[in-house]
Amino acid sequence: MPPIIQLAEHDTAALHHFTALPDAQFTVLGPRRIPPLTCPSSSSDTAIPISTSTGFTMLKHSVYITHAQALSPDIVVGLADLPSGTTASTRRMQNMTARTEDWMQQMATANNDGHCLNLFASILPVELEAQRLYLEMLQNELSDSIDGLAFYSSASAAVIPAGLAHLPRLSMSSLMTPQQILREVMLGVDLFAVEFVNASTDAGVALKFEFPAPTDTYTRTTEHSHLHRKEMGIDVWSDEHATDLSPLTADCDCYTCEKHHRAYIHHLLVAKEMLAWTLLQVHNYTMINRFFTGIRRSIKKGEFERDVGLFEDIYEAAMPKGGGKGPRYVHTLGPRVLERYHVLKHLASQDSRLSTRILRPQRGKSESRGLQVTEDCSCSRPIVALEIQCNTRFSVA
Ligand SMILES: [Zn+2]
Repeated sequence: MPPIIQLAEHDTAALHHFTALPDAQFTVLGPRRIPPLTCPSSSSDTAIPISTSTGFTMLKHSVYITHAQALSPDIVVGLADLPSGTTASTRRMQNMTARTEDWMQQMATANNDGHCLNLFASILPVELEAQRLYLEMLQNELSDSIDGLAFYSSASAAVIPAGLAHLPRLSMSSLMTPQQILREVMLGVDLFAVEFVNASTDAGVALKFEFPAPTDTYTRTTEHSHLHRKEMGIDVWSDEHATDLSPLTADCDCYTCEKHHRAYIHHLLVAKEMLAWTLLQVHNYTMINRFFTGIRRSIKKGEFERDVGLFEDIYEAAMPKGGGKGPRYVHTLGPRVLERYHVLKHLASQDSRLSTRILRPQRGKSESRGLQVTEDCSCSRPIVALEIQCNTRFSVA
């Protein structure tokens, strides 16, 4: 298949058509993957580092604008200079806000020159004071040019100036539980990138929670709720499902639950069949769609705050951990390992005798002198393992 950019010409909804999503689902083009990945280099005044299927590269802001206009996603998040860690120096924060402000102005200008993209402005994950001038610029100069706001931390959702408060809010935070989503909904966030759906599927966990939470269980267990909190998922790896002919959840009408039972999906997991994760993902998307339908109904009825309290009382605070590794197992890399990885990857590209596969330091194994790393190449595709078979010439400590 040709690259999407070649297919995009003359297509007014290129990204939507390329991904074959139903019309009711949004496509979002943004500067950060979820979960974020630490890059080996820093942003410059004109570009940010990104991870691609062929390694890290710098993405120029001008190229990002061109691609956004060609792909016409439903939402374009403005390029932002985002910190890779949790803390940033004063100097770093000044650079971040200055660059993000500059890029947003350029993007709004390009958008006003004939393209009608739904442009969401990035709100930086730093304190209000550090981005006050940027927020004032958005409010005073760009409020007519932007269609929404994108957040990378829950705290940022609370610092919005009154002049921007009417705009839709998109969360690109790493949210790992339904409770974290509910708290962000209470802060006024409208759209979410729900990371824990993929994470649960990868871990072999079938989601099993509903909103509002079932109150019959609550009344029965309220005196000892700390002992009887309900699990929010089922570990399908567990041997207890090996002969279980019931569906993943009893009242679910998804394809997986209507056609297959737990024992079959357990068998597929143990056999490492990709169909296992596909069936789990079908079920988990159904459960999260029902969760958001429940949120909308609860808000409409004016019972949202009460329902959030009940949900937190009834369910465990964390998702259950799955018993096995999924198809997208990710190993977090330190900067030194990344540096070595790039050196070895370059060597592999220059020498046809070297085969490619992954990375992770092989400590304590004298016969193995290579690096092995697991690289997650996309949220929607299984891992492409990249291993570099090194002989002693490329030995590493
Ligand atoms: Zn189901």
